[in-house]
Amino acid sequence: MTVLVTGGAGYIGSHMVWELLDAGESVVVLDRLSTGFEWAVAPEAKLVVGDVADRELVGQIIRDNKVDAIIHFAGSIVVPESVTDPLAYYENNTSKTRTLIETAVREGVPHFIFSSTAAVYGGAGLEPVREDARLAPESPYGLSKLMSEWMLRDAALAHPLRYTALRYFNVAGADPRGRTGQSTPGATHLIKVACETALGKRPFMQVFGTDYPTPDGTCMRDYIHVSDLAAAHRLALERLRAGGQSLVANCGYSHGYSVLEVIDSVRRAFGRDFEVKMGDRRPGDAAAVVANSDLARAELGWTPQRDDLDQIVADALAWERILTGKNSARS
Ligand code: UDP
Repeated sequence: MTVLVTGGAGYIGSHMVWELLDAGESVVVLDRLSTGFEWAVAPEAKLVVGDVADRELVGQIIRDNKVDAIIHFAGSIVVPESVTDPLAYYENNTSKTRTLIETAVREGVPHFIFSSTAAVYGGAGLEPVREDARLAPESPYGLSKLMSEWMLRDAALAHPLRYTALRYFNVAGADPRGRTGQSTPGATHLIKVACETALGKRPFMQVFGTDYPTPDGTCMRDYIHVSDLAAAHRLALERLRAGGQSLVANCGYSHGYSVLEVIDSVRRAFGRDFEVKMGDRRPGDAAAVVANSDLARAELGWTPQRDDLDQIVADALAWERILTGKNSARS
């Protein structure tokens, strides 16, 4: 049995590949390498460069490798880009996922794990959000993922396919063994931006809004270590293989940190100060987005191992240093 990981050359996907290999699984990666990196794919995994909507190619991969599970990460993830180019998001995230599900059904792949997002909820309140909260995506990105969840739901009712959709909160950090990490140039995520600023890759960074109705006035998010997220997928795979029913579950730690708390953590990890400017709110940001993760803990038996902001930040900073070395070696 082999696991097909789409988007396995990307940030979360490359961690998933290591998680599976560490557990003794056989892995094949399908990635277009449009935003991912060939070097990010563990050498023990087989890499196929191609598109998830290429029916012939995916069918061939499934048959040649006896794939019994697809973990589908490939997709576009930049929320503002989805607002300016919604049709690209519906094509790349929704239509291509539809084709991939169709191929999975046609080839008789019984298990499908899907990378979803807290963006399906829209503006969450200060309270941790449960899976049965109102679904109201505020961007084409969020809707493109929600539509994929719904296609999976309906396909699983009609065909012998069971799925797990995991709704990620703020994924951060890097492999604690330094094998992979967030490597996308121009990334906008807070912990990545703060680490880049600490290392002098940016002259300064900005805090987007200091007048939110939160304890220190800055936005609160539920930051989850990427390795804990990969572990949740592995548990979801085990559960499906053991006959578990389809499931949609949040992946977060159920508590949040403010932007200022994150920046303080980066200062502690770096050991020196760096320039932070207080700026205006960024359009579209909710005051707080925090998961209720009871369902994932109960259904997957998931017990996070790295629920510690300082550890997430230390791993992210360590990776940022490794990446600096890689990039200077290449130039
Ligand atoms: N943020 C910030 N400065 C930055 C990047 C992000 O103040 O340079 C804030 C952002 O406004 C949000 C939080 O950090 O409140 C997390 O943002 P991120 O883009 O990492 O994730 P999101 O929650 O938007 O998916």
